[in-house]
Amino acid sequence: MIDVVNAWKSYKSGTRTVDALRGIHCHIDRGRFAFIVGPSGSGKSTLLYMLGAVDRPTQGEIFVDGENLVAMSEAAQNVYRREKIGFIFQSFNLINNLTAVENVLIPFLPRGVTAQQRADAAELLTRVGLGDRLDHRPYQLSGGEQQRVAIARALVKKPLVVLADEPTGELDSKTGDEIYKILRSLQEAYHTTLVVVTHDRRFINPHDLVLEIQDGQLVGGPNGSPASSEV
Ligand code: ADP
Ligand code: ADP
Repeated sequence: MIDVVNAWKSYKSGTRTVDALRGIHCHIDRGRFAFIVGPSGSGKSTLLYMLGAVDRPTQGEIFVDGENLVAMSEAAQNVYRREKIGFIFQSFNLINNLTAVENVLIPFLPRGVTAQQRADAAELLTRVGLGDRLDHRPYQLSGGEQQRVAIARALVKKPLVVLADEPTGELDSKTGDEIYKILRSLQEAYHTTLVVVTHDRRFINPHDLVLEIQDGQLVGGPNGSPASSEV
């Protein structure tokens, strides 16, 4: 469902050019739990944000659900991000003066929230274990609870793909375990395709897809080598 074909990304900084991605080829099936791993600065976030059409590759094609993200207009990319992608960030990115349920409803605010959407938001928060915290504000919640709100927000519009950038980077390891447990249970319930950037391989299961990047290239070619997929 996701096909990356010979993707390159170069950044110019001053007189220097940094090749963040150097000819990435990969395929991610629908419903897959995929990890992008590799050292700091290897291009993980760059690849993730290309999948979300946050930025375009300098060269190459990216197909998601049959659409070529590279050929899309800016307007079409905005629609794609809004309708098909759920983002989860390291630092949660919740709005402090909104309640948990209001934060989950953020994706719907521009067009007005329906009763069904409100019910979906409450149900999702209950699923992530926050059924008794619907009206708490972020500052009244722990870091792990805030990330659970952010997960519910990413999923409420039933996205095709959820992209997560170091979702447990600011959490202790026990809370991190809980977050991955929740991500897996939601993925199984909704058959969402999940792509997660992490440098913590502890959370990878044997049947997950592992895309290992080093210096802008996938280790072992398309979808990594079998050796790189071992936990
Ligand atoms: P992390 O991967 O730790 O989350 P970032 O993705 O923000 O950190 O940045 C990774 C690297 O990219 C850092 O070395 C940072 O200095 C560099 N970087 C990020 N944004 C820019 C930018 N706009 N210009 C130059 N370098 C950048
Ligand atoms: P990772 O997520 O693996 O830490 P990144 O994708 O953030 O790596 O960065 C890959 C490379 O691209 C790094 O050398 C980084 O410094 C560079 N880079 C990332 N974003 C920018 C940017 N906006 N401008 C210039 N260089 C960048």
